[in-house]
Amino acid sequence: MAEILKGSPVATKLTEELTLRCESLKSKGITPTLATLRVGENPGDVSYESSAEKRCGKIGIAVRKIILPIDASPAEITANIRAINADSEIHGLLMFRPLPDKNAEREACMTLSPSKDIDCMTDSSLAGVFTGSGAGYPPCTAQACIELLDHYGIDVAGKNVAVIGRSLVIGRPVAMMLMKRNATITICHSKTRDLPAICRNADILIAAIGRARFVDAGFMSPGQVIIDVGINVDDDGKLCGDVRFEDAEKTVKAVTPVPGGVGAVTTAVLAKHVIESAEHMKE
Ligand code: NAP
Repeated sequence: MAEILKGSPVATKLTEELTLRCESLKSKGITPTLATLRVGENPGDVSYESSAEKRCGKIGIAVRKIILPIDASPAEITANIRAINADSEIHGLLMFRPLPDKNAEREACMTLSPSKDIDCMTDSSLAGVFTGSGAGYPPCTAQACIELLDHYGIDVAGKNVAVIGRSLVIGRPVAMMLMKRNATITICHSKTRDLPAICRNADILIAAIGRARFVDAGFMSPGQVIIDVGINVDDDGKLCGDVRFEDAEKTVKAVTPVPGGVGAVTTAVLAKHVIESAEHMKE
């Protein structure tokens, strides 16, 4: 049976470390503060907002929630981002993406000050991930995959890694971050041929597709580690990943569950980026 790589021990350890760093900032008169910006009532966004708020609350990070109607204009969204840029008490912004309007999303990303970009919205943070310079913050979910691998002592150097998904939020950045650690990467997408065969050959498989239980036994091999980034709802209305967990349990060496895997670590990484941003702004 596969080892289950749970997110909660990783998140708990990060939370403990961050609580101490938050206390230290507060003793110097700085309250680390996260702004969240949500447009509309997408249930996935509402649920992420609530877990981010809970995680920040545990650590002592203040949260300022901005909620705009689904038909908010690009000008209204960017005005809120400008106000966040100008507010010296705010250390980072989490904007729930994708926005209903792609152009509004692009404008919002271009408006945010890179110093408050804790989830890799701006081109300047993306450049940091793609050049490997370390400038800016990587996307929280991509970093959560790395934290999980590190916590469970899974070395990626020299390993074959298949990443399914090429979005700028997860697939591409996580591939770059793993390549920086000397993994050999294959980035797969909807036009990839022989996808199951590529995945079977991988030592580590990262699934970031957004299709419920898409990765079945045909994609898996013994000895493999699978990180399931997907958050989907199946036909029975149950939360599930991109991976058929019951197949993975029987076949591979280790797998992350959904829920309770990458998602659990993502909010802790978000909090880590807020604390780091507050520490940098203090300097
Ligand atoms: P996205 O922007 O929709 O990208 C999905 C990617 O999967 C695309 O590159 C797409 O290929 C590829 N894909 C779709 N169908 C495929 C197929 N049949 N075969 C191979 N590749 C296929 O999604 P995303 O924003 O990256 O999110 C991916 C998943 O992660 C979603 O389930 C999302 O809910 C989840 N997520 C999790 C967290 C977390 O904290 N755990 C955070 C954010 C998102 P093309 O480029 O060719 O279209």
